[in-house]
Amino acid sequence: LRMMSAAPLGNEPVSDEELRPHVLAGFIGQPTLKAQLQLFLDAARKRDVPPDHILLAGPPGLGKTTLAMIVANELGVPIRVTSGPAIQHAGDLASILSSLDAGEVLFIDEIHRLPRAAEELLYIAMEDFRVDVMVGKGPGASSIPLTLPRFTVIGATTREGMLPSPLRARFGFTAHLDFYPADELRKLIERSAAVLGLELEQGASQQLSLRSRGTPRIANRLLRRVRDWAIVHDLPQVRADDVCEALALYQIDTEGLDRLDIAVLTAIVKQFNGGPVGLNNLSAMVGEEAETVETVCEPYLVREGFLIRTPKGRVATQKAWQHLGLTMPDAQDA
Ligand code: ADP
Repeated sequence: LRMMSAAPLGNEPVSDEELRPHVLAGFIGQPTLKAQLQLFLDAARKRDVPPDHILLAGPPGLGKTTLAMIVANELGVPIRVTSGPAIQHAGDLASILSSLDAGEVLFIDEIHRLPRAAEELLYIAMEDFRVDVMVGKGPGASSIPLTLPRFTVIGATTREGMLPSPLRARFGFTAHLDFYPADELRKLIERSAAVLGLELEQGASQQLSLRSRGTPRIANRLLRRVRDWAIVHDLPQVRADDVCEALALYQIDTEGLDRLDIAVLTAIVKQFNGGPVGLNNLSAMVGEEAETVETVCEPYLVREGFLIRTPKGRVATQKAWQHLGLTMPDAQDA
């Protein structure tokens, strides 16, 4: 009786909220980053000032928003959430900035997509805690400098390289989030399963951790699909085989690659004979935006050794050919 959504797994609108940890101690993995952040927060608390601005960089779903909320929570201050694309004019940002309370955290997701004028306004505000507010319109307009209380900007970006250096330089602490190793994902999956009231056998959480693409958001999403499976099949406890069957239904392969990953590898191998192929050609071939291919898909494929980036373009490795069940032509041997 259950209706399966026709939307591809990656685009499903799910709430991340119920599985979000609220304190740093509940944030799984990334030990170095956590230790650095802990010190940073402790120092700010001891000095009794809002901490420096923080930049969180890394692929989607690795915990940037979660960390921002944890920072605000640990400091006991409110958090205001916005994003680069949501701010269309510098004025939108000016009105947010001028309404911030002392110590408040301003979280700007996809900060690399702020319009240029807003960017300039932001780095002045971050440095001097001042914003110029425009009053009136046309020839009679004038700008009034407004002093802001001290606050903390937490920026998140999937493309750190796209941030102009003056803006990047305003962050006192930059953290790079990386894909999670399977053992960390497994802890995360076990924690989430407990929250969802789902009983997983050891092999089941292990299978899930291996197929989650190194990404907490994907791990949680797959876990929910496995929960659906367990509910429909009246399973009191989920075994590894159940996970495999459920994920097969959703076309998640044994390496955790999803449809876009496979489409990208297939295009390089079949249409471009293994590459090299430029990002734009490749993106057009799979019908996806270049930014998505570059920031969502490629980092994982590169890390797992399916793809290499060369100055001439993307090249599929032998592992990619093999994974697609094809033989790499000798001439392409790298
Ligand atoms: P991002 O902002 O980087 O796209 P999110 O912070 O929204 O990612 O995380 C996506 C989901 O994964 C959330 O439900 C969050 O609770 C969970 N998550 C991410 N990182 C962790 C972590 N280290 N420990 C526990 N849960 C995490």
